[in-house]
Amino acid sequence: MADPLKEADALNGNCADLSAVLENITDGIMNLDALGRFTYVNSAAERMLERSRSELLGTFVWTSFPAAVGTAIYDNYLAAMATQIPASFEFFIPTLNRWLDVRVYPGRHNYTAYFRDITAVKTKEKSLRESEAMYRMIADNSTDMIARISMDGTYLYVSPACRTLLGYEPEELIGRCLYDLLHPDYSQVPLADLIAETAKCGMNLRESLARKKDGTYIWFETTARTILDNLGLHKELITISRDISARKHIEKQLLETNELLQKISTVDALTGVANRRGFDECLQREWKQGRRIGAPLSLIIVDIDYFKRFNDTYGHAEGDQCLKLVAESLKKAARRPVDFIARYGGEEFVIILPCTDAAGAQTVAEQLGEQVEELQIPHSRSESSPYITISSGTATMIPSQDVDPKELFLRADKALYQAKQDGRNRVRLYQVSE
Ligand code: GH3
Ligand code: MG
Ligand code: MG
Repeated sequence: MADPLKEADALNGNCADLSAVLENITDGIMNLDALGRFTYVNSAAERMLERSRSELLGTFVWTSFPAAVGTAIYDNYLAAMATQIPASFEFFIPTLNRWLDVRVYPGRHNYTAYFRDITAVKTKEKSLRESEAMYRMIADNSTDMIARISMDGTYLYVSPACRTLLGYEPEELIGRCLYDLLHPDYSQVPLADLIAETAKCGMNLRESLARKKDGTYIWFETTARTILDNLGLHKELITISRDISARKHIEKQLLETNELLQKISTVDALTGVANRRGFDECLQREWKQGRRIGAPLSLIIVDIDYFKRFNDTYGHAEGDQCLKLVAESLKKAARRPVDFIARYGGEEFVIILPCTDAAGAQTVAEQLGEQVEELQIPHSRSESSPYITISSGTATMIPSQDVDPKELFLRADKALYQAKQDGRNRVRLYQVSE
């Protein structure tokens, strides 16, 4: 037989357990009687409503919360009581600045409401919505074309700037491969390599020619970044492309202008002395002048000894530096105002000496050799000196109408050949008998 006392104790014990559960859950629970008076409020509800149960119990809900009268929760209360149908809804309490997820269970003699504070979730949703709207606004209004591209090169999203830049609607590009838009010259790098390179560095900056819908091309400068998924794997690319056609046009013009300047320039860019073009002009001029006055014209061709070995040993930059120093020292030796020094090419220099006979040319050539050796530029692999040396060939002629000035050059070149043959680091004069 059941013991009524024990059953009552057990029931009381169960009630105590239940009450402890209700007090400890994070959901708010409140109960109203048929007249709308609070009969129960758990501690979570106290926190969410910011009122203690001693303030609330026995009071009428709409007297305690007059601001709620006429709001959605009030309408809901009336509807639930009238229909006796449970309902759930989200509700914002402006006075508490709190969002609640509410579930109500109307009864004939009571009205129970469970509510959960969803303010944090709502705030996050709102800020997400706002930031999405902000980024969309930026993408939509950017004059640069912003795109999301899958790891196989397919456009997933293209911002509306593609209309003005490429003449396409975004929808026409979505689903297409980015290589469809590139000039064939820029499709040389396989797409997989391009994407792998971007993934490896996290970023890639490239210039390319992109084909517009009308078939013409536009210069694009594209920055690509890889986006990682939650597992840290490369998920897709974000690219920002801008029109740099104007810049490219100016760059091309500058390049052409520079090439033109280079062509008409008579100065050697490395050493600052005249270049071959300057030499040709000067030789013609001095040849004519010598013819008029019947004075001898001398020419020295200077060639640095074992210069290939120097480059191979000390590097090309050191080689360039050496050429500059040699040019400077040549200037010191050929110091008459009419003397003309030019870099003929590579490591060869030419010196035109107007009104100078063969003996004079030889003296100058000897001095050139001394000046260069005095520079003491170490050259461990030279067979003629521990330092950089030069060989020179000189030729002298009295210019005449019947002879081309090239003859003077050929003669000096022959003499230079002889200087090299005879062991380098020396001067040889062209002998008419040769
Ligand atoms: P040789 O004594 O017979 O004249 O031998 P070489 O090595 O001086 O002559 P060669 O004609 O075999 O090599 C000339 C070298 O000059 C080749 C190249 O390495 C170097 N050279 C030519 N132009 C330049 C230049 O503008 N800068 C530098 N750094 N080196 C140059
Ligand atoms: Mg040479
Ligand atoms: Mg040489």
